[in-house]
This record gives sequence, C-alpha cells and structure tokens, in this order.
Amino acid sequence: MEGIMKQSKLGRRLLLFPTPFQGHQYPMLHLATLLHSKGFSITIIQTPYNPINPTYFPHLTFRSFYNSSLESYSKIPPSDPSTILSVMDDCSEPFQDCLSQILQETGAATDKEPIAALITDPVWKFAGSVAASFNLPRMVLRTGSMSSLLVFSSLPCLREKGYFPPQDHKLNEPLPELPPLKARDLPLEWLHNERLEALVQETKISQGVIGNTFEELEDYSIARVHQILSIPIFPIGPLHKHSPTYDTNYWAQDQTSIGWLNKQAPKSVLYVSFGSVAAMSKTEFLELAWGLLDSMVPFLWVVRPGLIQGSEANNDSLPEGYLEMVGERGHVVKWAPQLEVLSHPSVGGFWTHNGWNSTLESICEGVPMLCQPILSDQNMNARHVSDGWRIGLKLEKGLKREEIARSIRKLMLEEGEEMRNRITALQQKATLCVKEGGSSYISLERLTSYLLSF
Ligand code: UDP
Repeated sequence: MEGIMKQSKLGRRLLLFPTPFQGHQYPMLHLATLLHSKGFSITIIQTPYNPINPTYFPHLTFRSFYNSSLESYSKIPPSDPSTILSVMDDCSEPFQDCLSQILQETGAATDKEPIAALITDPVWKFAGSVAASFNLPRMVLRTGSMSSLLVFSSLPCLREKGYFPPQDHKLNEPLPELPPLKARDLPLEWLHNERLEALVQETKISQGVIGNTFEELEDYSIARVHQILSIPIFPIGPLHKHSPTYDTNYWAQDQTSIGWLNKQAPKSVLYVSFGSVAAMSKTEFLELAWGLLDSMVPFLWVVRPGLIQGSEANNDSLPEGYLEMVGERGHVVKWAPQLEVLSHPSVGGFWTHNGWNSTLESICEGVPMLCQPILSDQNMNARHVSDGWRIGLKLEKGLKREEIARSIRKLMLEEGEEMRNRITALQQKATLCVKEGGSSYISLERLTSYLLSF
C-alpha cells in the first residue's frame, strides 16, 4: 500500500530540502503533499535537527544526512536561531554526499523515476551551487511574505538612496518604493548581514520562486520581485488551504484549548501566541501577563518553552497567584492547535508576532490581529497588516501593561468591527484563489507544467 502511495503518476520525482524550523517545515510539507497530489513522487531531505516524523507522511519518502558538527544540534534550543543557522551553514558537504547518493541510486535503478528538480529553502546558502554541480534544476520555496523578499532584494538600492545608516528623525518616514513600509520597519539590524544577501542570491540563481502567498494579497510585491530578480514566480498559497493539517508540531498540541473555547461567547476571545522561535525578556513577559489580565477580555495564551529569553518558560514563570486571579476568564497552554483555534467561533482576535504562517492563517480564518513583531521579517508583515490591509493594530509603544490593555480593548471591543469586515473580504479571496479557476489554482497548474519541462 505504502509503495503504491509513494509511486508517481507523472513518472517524475522532486527532491525537497526544508530548513529545520517549524515555520519553514510546515509550508514545505504542505507543498510536498500538494505536488504529490499533482502526480509527482516526493523525497524530503532533512537533517537530524527537528526531524519531521515520517510516520505522519506515508505518501512521502524521507532521507536524512548526518555529520559530526550536526551532532551539537540537539543541544541548541529552538529560540537560538542564529547559532543554529551557523551550524546549518556547515551542511554543504553532507548535503552534497546525500544528493550524490540519491542521484546515483536513481540512475542505477530501472524502477525509479527520474528526478525533475530540487526545491530548497533559500535560507540554505549552499544549495544553489551544490545543485549546479549536478546540473540539477532548482527552485526555491519562499516561506515568508513576498513583500519581505522585495525588501531584501531592494537593500542595495535602499542603501544607495541613503536610508542607511538609519537616522532617528527619518525612521517614521514612509518608503515610497515599498508601500506601506516606513524606514523603521526595515530589518535595520540585518542591513549588512551577509545572510540576507545570500538568501537573495540563492533565490536569484534558482529557476523560479514558489510563493506561499496569493495574487490578491501581494500583487505589487510579486510583480516587483519578478522585475528585480528576473525569474518566474508562482504564488500558489495559502499552502495550508490545499492540504490537511498535520501533527508536525515540536510540542504536543493542548486540546484543552478547544474545550475551554467551547465555553466562551462568540468572537469574545483573544488568542495570544508568538510562534515557535520569538522570545521576550522576563519584564516584557510580566507586562504582557498583567496587560492581559487588566484588559478584562477572555484570552487563550500560548506560553511555549523558551518564550522568555534564556529560560524554559512555562506556567511557573507567571506571577504568583496569577492563574487564580484570571480564573475562568483565561486559559494558558504550552502549545495550541492553532488552526483549529483560529477557526473557532469564540475567537475574535489574535495577538501575534506576525510570523508569515500565523499572519496567513489569521487572514484565512478572518481573525483581526494585534501585532507584536519581535524579529526578522515580522515588522514588515505587521506594517502590511496594520497600515496596508488595515486588518489589525500594531503595538507601537513597546510592551507596557496600560498600553496592552488599551490596545486589546480597542481591537476586541472598539475598532474590531471594521477590521473584521476587511479581513472577511480577504478571507473570501484566500478561499477562492485555491479553487478551480482561482489565481493560485492557475499558478499551480503553471508550476506543474514548468516542473515537467525540466
Ligand atoms: N503554531 C501552532 N501552535 C501554537 C503556536 C504556533 O500550531 O501554539 C503554528 C502556527 O499555526 C504556525 C507556526 O506554528 O503555522 C508558526 O509559524 P510562524 O511563521 O507564524 O512563526 P515562527 O514560528 O516561524 O516564528
């Protein structure tokens, strides 16, 4: 049975190489399942850090590679992305060996489909040159927003125009080339970071970008990236709308979340989660806790391990007696079934770090956002949510309990209705674009033909 499920209808195999982060693996797995449904056989190449459990994916084949520097992976907490990224940079050789082995096995066997292409996360700095050394066509999956890729691709031009080094008095100025962003939203700390340049380069030397986005949401950025990088772009998202939800979570999903939500009034609950990587100081964490309590709004709060910088945050980090004070008005879990939560009728708002998956998931469920970006592209996503699509509020004044309580009430009770109407309109577009004749549906058809043309 397994063998039949893994066999390709099109007689071609694709190799997919995700980076080992939750927010990057999720969309790559959705892409894998989607392309499998189009008739390709799929092999996922992965590292021993945060490995995906193959038992959840009987239709996919998995290959892992090891090397000595990777052994330290298991000791690095997920909230330390920069250390993990530098260890990942050492994976070039083991990846090359693994690829070489797969290609040799494919060449030697008569019953194995030829490999059409490799699809990588552009965060891997070496995948382009390794693929080129085997003459293997390679595409990239952009797991983040297209607008942040546009910013990364525009950095040389922004430097030329004098936005850097950043000047305090200019931080609130809009960037005419990148609406609705302001100078302060740019990844200033990363400006001279060669990692960003490498990401753009890895993308530029690929045969095309697959985007976890849709035309109706990011048409301007899609067109501009196409113009700047001169490669084909296939916006086929939201990827999670095409395939079922999988249990690929790093932490067990706490199903008490749903039981608790079932007892709440429609649209009354604020769901609070900052994704799998972002961390905050203990002071910010406590302000957040008090702000939630003071808002008087019912809340479901994900306090995942590592949420507080340098500690394994859990309920013990909450102020003494906090949960008793909250009582039935709040529920705190380590990890939630986020998609189920966002689609629950009791949820009326999402306080998020604006990771791209969370942002897309909120749009797909029509839930307005309170934006608390913490790192990387999250600031840019948050600005699009608040000032571009106008489907959320951005917390601009840092994490202070009075400001938090005020903003929560504004989102949930005062201005929520208008934002809800706008996000409902976007939600409908997100639903339609993946259906027959929709923009992402058509883009997927184009992508399938393109992959078969290699
Ligand atoms: N997520 C989840 N349960 C949680 C928190 C997050 O299942 O309690 C999922 C969420 O649905 C999303 C992913 O984890 O798909 C987080 O990805 P995102 O890009 O939003 O943020 P990252 O973790 O990459 O910062």
